Amino acid sequence: MVPRIDFEPSFIYDLVWKELLARTKSGKNYPSREEIFAYTRKMKVYWNKKKRGILEEMALVTHLKWRRTEIPCFVVGAPRFASFNAFSHPLTMHIQDYQENPELFLKRLIHELIHNLFIDNPDLWPEDYLDKKYGPESFDTKAHILVYALHVHIAEKCLNKKKNIVHTSEKHGYTRAWEIVKKEGYENIIREFVEYIEEKKKRSNS
Ligand SMILES: [Zn+2]
Repeated sequence: MVPRIDFEPSFIYDLVWKELLARTKSGKNYPSREEIFAYTRKMKVYWNKKKRGILEEMALVTHLKWRRTEIPCFVVGAPRFASFNAFSHPLTMHIQDYQENPELFLKRLIHELIHNLFIDNPDLWPEDYLDKKYGPESFDTKAHILVYALHVHIAEKCLNKKKNIVHTSEKHGYTRAWEIVKKEGYENIIREFVEYIEEKKKRSNS
């Protein structure tokens, strides 16, 4: 079972983003409700066209399970001005990525959905393993090594992509995570993770 992703605009969320935008005094206009509704529909159609097998494969390759049957994805009009444009929980996407490039939107959505799979399995998040193996690295780096490794796997397996798979943020912790994935190899990272959680599952059953 995989969750359905329910794309929906959020009027309240937009009020918050609108106020934040006004505080920047950038003079940028916030998109209209009609525009946000129209893009929400487009994102939904696009995701439904592309989603085939993605959520299933995420669970299969990690030996994790989706716990929710539905995940709301809030769509906001926030023009890019803050560091948190898309995030995982509550799952939130903004229309600008889609306007600029639907593929970029899909990359960001897959990234946030991978975080959601881990959010569904908090007891199996390998904090002790990551601390032991990547101790001196930052929190952002440790949180993204597995995310990027899985992202590469999904892009290759479900989207037939071998290039420009991952869109890393320019923040140091993220680029560092991507460096580690390139150096160690995404398959090795996933394999070690699966060994770790299988071991953990065994321990909790005994
Ligand atoms: Zn992330």
